[in-house]
Amino acid sequence: MKKISIVIPAHNEEGNIVLIYDAVARVFASLNYTFEIIFVNDGSTDDTQNVLEKLSKLHPEIKTIEFSRNFGHQPAVKAGLDLADGDAVISMDADLQHPAELIPTLIAKWEEGYDVVYTIRKYPKQISMFKRKSSSLYYRFLTAISDVDMSEGGGSDFRLMDAAVVRVMRNMNESDIFLRGLTHWMGFRQTGLRFTAGQRVSGQSSYNLKKMMRFAFTGITAFSVKPLYLAAYLGFIFSAFAAVGYGIYVINSFVDGTEISGWASLIMTVVFFGGVQLIMLGIIGIYLGKIFKQVKDRPNYIIRSKNF
Ligand code: UDP
Ligand code: MG
Repeated sequence: MKKISIVIPAHNEEGNIVLIYDAVARVFASLNYTFEIIFVNDGSTDDTQNVLEKLSKLHPEIKTIEFSRNFGHQPAVKAGLDLADGDAVISMDADLQHPAELIPTLIAKWEEGYDVVYTIRKYPKQISMFKRKSSSLYYRFLTAISDVDMSEGGGSDFRLMDAAVVRVMRNMNESDIFLRGLTHWMGFRQTGLRFTAGQRVSGQSSYNLKKMMRFAFTGITAFSVKPLYLAAYLGFIFSAFAAVGYGIYVINSFVDGTEISGWASLIMTVVFFGGVQLIMLGIIGIYLGKIFKQVKDRPNYIIRSKNF
């Protein structure tokens, strides 16, 4: 029998662990596959670790990884992928927003010969307008500014990957991993499924606006150097304007002796270009920071304990 690994990152999910386990186990009860669930406790400060330890004593198919601190959702999923040994690996959230009922369909697509089966999340009406709109806008922007088309593939870390794909991913050592983009970038035979995300069952979302912004920056700068070109393009455009404008003033002052005036406009121009330069310095700085992180070559996560 083929084996499916389910990877579930969990950050303060004490109320959801048992529920998600039940949901997955129920699905596999009627499937002809063996399975393992790898829970990655990403530095939870609640009772998640205790709940996991108790549950894994009852069910041998549960494996647990405990991080030494909170490393973030993406590293947690990566840790699960690194240690999964199924013929296919499915990553999904602990808060039951990713319906376990979709697992048989993911597997069926895999059996059809697809190496990656990603999912496209459709938000239900209850989710705030802000989150829905910002998410779709973000992925359109990301597609426009990066070299990876994520207009469809983005949005969800609920995904099946063949063991071969997972092996390739294991050997990638990016310091800021962004799995959604990475799987897309890797190629292989891919297909997508649509699903409606539910509400998280218990606890609170760990993603606030600040984390979302950082996630957005990570995504953009991990896949593209296009923002760096922006500086060069803007530089050309502004210099051209300045050259033409300056030429006109000089000619004017020779022809009819008008003095070059406008102290305020001069200051505004200086301030404006100061701003543009700071933005560009910032963008360069972000890339430099990434290089700095990558060069140090620290691991993406540190494991404190695991039960397998
Ligand atoms: N998560 C994690 N580490 C973090 C934040 C989140 O492992 O630092 C897990 C969390 O337990 C959940 C999944 O990642 O299983 C998605 O997180 P969340 O539900 O907070 O995000 P949202 O669904 O709001 O995008
Ligand atoms: Mg969630």
